[in-house]
Amino acid sequence: VATRAFLPDWLYWGGALRPGLALEVDEAGLVVGATEGRAAADVERLAGRALLPGLVNAHSHAFQRLIRGRTEFAAGGERDDFWTWREAMFSAASALDPEGVFVASRQAFLEMALAGITCVGEFHYLHRDPDGRAYADPDELSVQVVRAAREVGIRIALLRVGYARSGFRTPENPRQRRFIDSSPDEVLRAADRLRTALRSDEAVSVGIAPHSVRAVPRSWLEEITRAWDGVVHMHAAEQPAEVEACVQEHGLRPIELAAEIGMLGSRFTAVHAIHLSDGEIAALGSAAANVCACPSTERNLGDGVVPADRLLAAGAHLALGTDSQASIDLLEDARQLELHLRLVRLRRAVLDPGRGEQTGLARVLFGTATEGGARSLGLSVGRLRPGAPADFFTVDLHHPSLVGAGGDAALGAIVFGGGPAAVRDVYVAGRSVVREGRHALEEQSGRAFSALARRIFG
Ligand SMILES: [Zn+2]
Repeated sequence: VATRAFLPDWLYWGGALRPGLALEVDEAGLVVGATEGRAAADVERLAGRALLPGLVNAHSHAFQRLIRGRTEFAAGGERDDFWTWREAMFSAASALDPEGVFVASRQAFLEMALAGITCVGEFHYLHRDPDGRAYADPDELSVQVVRAAREVGIRIALLRVGYARSGFRTPENPRQRRFIDSSPDEVLRAADRLRTALRSDEAVSVGIAPHSVRAVPRSWLEEITRAWDGVVHMHAAEQPAEVEACVQEHGLRPIELAAEIGMLGSRFTAVHAIHLSDGEIAALGSAAANVCACPSTERNLGDGVVPADRLLAAGAHLALGTDSQASIDLLEDARQLELHLRLVRLRRAVLDPGRGEQTGLARVLFGTATEGGARSLGLSVGRLRPGAPADFFTVDLHHPSLVGAGGDAALGAIVFGGGPAAVRDVYVAGRSVVREGRHALEEQSGRAFSALARRIFG
């Protein structure tokens, strides 16, 4: 089998940055191994760069990129919070036709690629037209989102959302019409159809996502849990009001309800999981479930801080998401997971495994941004090892944000001080997506996105 090789100054291999190793990739885009001193003609020398496994963004709503910067004020002149922000998000969601969904998603995915993200879990809940009618192809908008990711070149796990209602004893909100499914069976059939239709592309997978305990009743959760054999994602315990409504309806908190139904396990991801009881933390941990924290969004919306230290200690697994796209920089999310806890716990290095190693904490955080996301999405990405997809990115170690950070310690600089500006090359399944910090569709996508934003916001 013909192979190619990439020789950076430092290769992240086996959990550490190592010098002098070339990453070998076969024609199918899979990692063959890491070899020393390879000098063949097909070696691509990546001088001055560190090569790392691609970042896995486990929770995204791509179209929300449209409202970035447009909601950073108290719209009612009074208190602004998650719920007022949500109304602005609904407005943008109402304005998108299928092409608009494609254009907005493509711009978000392109920005992700430029940030070293090679795989996205897209929590997709726009299904119907603005009047609440199904499109001729009921999967039209899902297909547009997948097309956007694949045109950019990143891997996508489409998490097909199920949405039944505005909430427990909550009047219908006409601006949620586009999200609504008529039954859990409709959700399951849509996910099955998509899984079959998209099977030919190995960079596309399909999961299912009951939106939240607010948006679906218990019977839906039970039916989906019984019938679906893939990954299941659900927003949970993001806001205190959501927890209170859940207790009112079920006499249980959101994760208590999920546990009682039998949802918790390694295929399950609770997105946010901020307002948790001790029992809920223990339940997530003993089930080895995943928690996807989205720190840049959670701080933007005033949600609170994910108790990542207690979740890890209990045995839960952590992943990260850019969620609302308030910013798209997964390394920033990785460090905020730790830095927010410092503000709460009034100490440093909260998530450090405690072995006294300089890169111990950086490794934990980088792991959540890569392997943690892969586990949450049920994919074999996130780690460079023989047989895994060759999804990776490089950073320029001479970039002003990183210069001077040598050796294995560079991981600390990359995680705590790096960002999209230092990203140079991005590869997905061995194919080049970003070269020298640029994406081929940057101008075209930016132009289309600007025109779309003008059409919606004037
Ligand atoms: Zn979300």
